[in-house]
Amino acid sequence: NALYKVDAWGAPYFSVNASGNVTVRPHGARTMDHQEIDLLKVVKKASDSKSTGGLDLRLPLIIRFPDILKDRLECLQSAFNYAVKSQGYSSHYQGVYPVKSNQDRFVVEDIVKFGSSFRFGLEAGSKPELLMAMSCLCKGSSESLLICNGFKDAEYISLALIARKLSLNTVIVLEQEEELDSVIDISIKLGIRPVVGVRAKLRTKHSGHFGATSGEKGKFGLTTTQIIRVVKKLKQCGMLDCFQLLHFHIGSQIPSTSLLADGVGEAAQIYSELVRLGASMKVIDIGGGLGIDYDGSKSTNSDVSVGYTIEEYAMAVVQAVKFVCDRNSVKHPIICSESGRAIVSHHSILIFEAVSSSNYTVPTMSSYDVHHFIERLPEDAHSDYHNLSQSAVRGEYDACLAYADQLKQTCVEKFKDGSMDIEQLAAIDGFCELVAKAVGVSNPVSTYHVNLSVFTSVPDFWGIGQLFPILPIHRLSECPSKKGILSDLTCDSDGKIDKFIGGESSLPLHELEGDNGMNNYYLGMFLGGAYQEAMGGLHNLFGGPSVIRVSQSDGPFGFAVTRAVPGSSCSDVLRSMNHEPEMMFETLKHRIEEYVHDEGGSMIAGGIAQSFHNMPYLTVGSSCCLTAASG
Ligand code: PLP
Repeated sequence: NALYKVDAWGAPYFSVNASGNVTVRPHGARTMDHQEIDLLKVVKKASDSKSTGGLDLRLPLIIRFPDILKDRLECLQSAFNYAVKSQGYSSHYQGVYPVKSNQDRFVVEDIVKFGSSFRFGLEAGSKPELLMAMSCLCKGSSESLLICNGFKDAEYISLALIARKLSLNTVIVLEQEEELDSVIDISIKLGIRPVVGVRAKLRTKHSGHFGATSGEKGKFGLTTTQIIRVVKKLKQCGMLDCFQLLHFHIGSQIPSTSLLADGVGEAAQIYSELVRLGASMKVIDIGGGLGIDYDGSKSTNSDVSVGYTIEEYAMAVVQAVKFVCDRNSVKHPIICSESGRAIVSHHSILIFEAVSSSNYTVPTMSSYDVHHFIERLPEDAHSDYHNLSQSAVRGEYDACLAYADQLKQTCVEKFKDGSMDIEQLAAIDGFCELVAKAVGVSNPVSTYHVNLSVFTSVPDFWGIGQLFPILPIHRLSECPSKKGILSDLTCDSDGKIDKFIGGESSLPLHELEGDNGMNNYYLGMFLGGAYQEAMGGLHNLFGGPSVIRVSQSDGPFGFAVTRAVPGSSCSDVLRSMNHEPEMMFETLKHRIEEYVHDEGGSMIAGGIAQSFHNMPYLTVGSSCCLTAASG
């Protein structure tokens, strides 16, 4: 537990039980009386087809806990409720969930359902996201906001206006000044009065990786000059009453409440000015940015940590808005936030398996072996060997290593020109490794091969170096005897995880047990519920993992699998690149008929059909081969 800092980044949801397994408390700190869910039991149950309605679920696997989503939402709402009450703030908080953080149907539907009693809404940034938000919010509260961000064309604007006609509380947030003309024209054409907001380009800038969207030169939003032109144009058209919301987003993972308060204060001043200029302002939308403490360090100068709690975040926002509005005698606005990462990060865990490790076992050599080895050394490597031995006798270890390196290089050249055979080269490698170990510098870090694609399931690690807590989900009462990095299944040198929370370049791991991939060593990647699923790609055609939804229940295990969806099959991923698996299979069947004339043909065809149906990942712990699969 302490080794992987579970309490620091995982509380109140994740912990380790007396058996050394990671446990989940989906209701968080509020209901400590609930039984903890043993994650290993969930994984075992997912692989048991009796518990998954006959589905044969394979790893990698995403386990979703809707109860965690509910708890995150309720924590956010109650943090703001408390801040509003304690500060004597005269309006309320009404958040929206930016669907881009995780567009999975069940995640979005759950958020709408859990948040409808406190009017929680959705934010969309593209046309498909808007269509999704429109249909999901039909089941939510009619007061919930539907914030339309992102670059907009006439079709997007028409959809957003139609949503108002359907009694959805839609706000079109101008991301560019040019969008205003279309909004005015289309709303007049459709006879639908819009509610308009603007995204302000704040001067407050956040310096971390995610701060690139903020500041005067940020990618998005309107400058003060442009905002004033928007006011003038709306006034000319008799539509200034439509201008009701001010939005800004200074970037994800806002590191400190001081920076947050600075940005919110600047925006509240713009809001007050808009009130003065005659707009019918009602809502200040502070965007996303509520951060996650991925490494549990509470640091304010790291992209993987933040130095505040949800409660402190809410308090800083309410205080900053109240202070500025009171100073300007402006009525307190509804405070809206677009927290994505903070709502969905905890709710899902990615489980994958280590299938083998490159346990480099340093060869043991007897004096006979060493003698034999020396005899087989090519002539011109003898001097390297002699120097090496002399340095060893004198205890000059750095020189020893340098001569070993030289010896190896001489032999590699000999191998390349054909004057040394592969057994000799292997003997040199073994000898040099032995020397390295003898002087205490052999590489103690093993490579664990994991049944996963980093590009599909952890794209932010590959793309922006984002770190997530990763640890074995069992055997945690055993002290790990090794250190490892994780290497994925793709044929790509970037397909590895070699940086871990706490600035570590390796992960404490256990020795794999059993042979031939029968070891069942399960690892979990935590806090990856935001952004990873939609950003993941199909490199080497490794598709999406299997997914199950798990809820707390009163049964013997304390949980129930309420939904199970197998990961993408080989057919699915082939189809996504415009191949037609059915036609491909027909082509191969004809080939079988042409070349295989005995009864083996139908076995081969069955095996190939099964491969189209299976997931692209390794089938761990099975001696499955094509003909066996057909049986
Ligand atoms: N709102 C806007 C406009 C964004 O661009 C983003 C993400 O970058 C968010 C909300 C969500 O941010 P976060 O996940 O940090 O809460």
